[in-house]
Order: sequence, then C-alpha cells, then structure tokens
Amino acid sequence: MTNKVTSVMDARACGTCTLCCRLPEIDQLSKPANALCVNCVTGQGCLIYDGRPDLCRDFLCAWMTDPKLGPQWDPVVAKMMVYGQGDQLTVLVDPDHPQSWREEPYASQLTSWATKAAGRGGYVIVFVGDDVYKVAPTN
Ligand code: SF4
Ligand code: SF4
Repeated sequence: MTNKVTSVMDARACGTCTLCCRLPEIDQLSKPANALCVNCVTGQGCLIYDGRPDLCRDFLCAWMTDPKLGPQWDPVVAKMMVYGQGDQLTVLVDPDHPQSWREEPYASQLTSWATKAAGRGGYVIVFVGDDVYKVAPTN
C-alpha cells in the first residue's frame, strides 16, 4: 500500500469494496496478505476510519484515481485491485476468484499494460494467493 492519494475521480467511491483491507500485506498493522484487517467489517468498512493509520489514509487503488480504468476495473467487478509501485504495476487478485485476471477483458488489458511498461523498463506483477506471475509483454 504505497500509492499516494492524488485525487479521487468524481463518481467513484469505495462503496462496499474492502479489497485493500484484505488482499495486501500491511506490516504496520501486522496484517498478512489475504486476511481481512481486524478493523474491517465486510460490507461496512473500517471500524477505526477516523483514526486509521496514515498508510491507509494515503492509499487509493488506481481505479479510484485513473480515468483510463473503466468501470470494468472497479475492484468489486474485476475481483482484483491495481496500483502502481514505481516501475511495478501491482495487481492483487481476490483468491476467491483466482482466474479473474486470465479472463477478458482483463487478460488483454494486462498484456497491453505489460507491453507499454516494458518500453520504459517497467513490468506488471500479479499476485494470487501465494502465487506470483509476471505478465508477459508482446513483442
Ligand atoms: S481497493 Fe480501491 S475501491 Fe476497493 S476499498 Fe481499496 S481503494 Fe477503495
Ligand atoms: S485499518 Fe481500516 S483502512 Fe486500514 S486496512 Fe484496516 S480496516 Fe482497512
């Protein structure tokens, strides 16, 4: 969770999504990957919202800030969340839907992102539970 908040796009909100409170490992909260934060109630959100750590306060996934990600990238719809970490575009897939990133329109979009990233020395990494994949760019 190193994405810094830029600005939230109009008409986008986390709503009932709590993926970033479940999928990432968060050392500061002693939270392992793919385990719901002890402060999170599914469908309700963060129980300590006003006092949540800066790490949480400063994070938004790419769908919340990037207009290039269409409605299909709403994490609730996609069953995965995307965020940038320097040269790496990180994709955390909901282990309850482990094939989502291999399905369309996601597989083609990830390949396209990997191809563009490779041109500038970057890459796209997909995490699914304990499995890690580097998306292959096209030539
Ligand atoms: S993954 Fe994105 S949409 Fe979902 S709760 Fe986190 S910031 Fe909000
Ligand atoms: S402290 Fe709150 S915002 Fe941060 S991961 Fe836990 S439930 Fe989510």
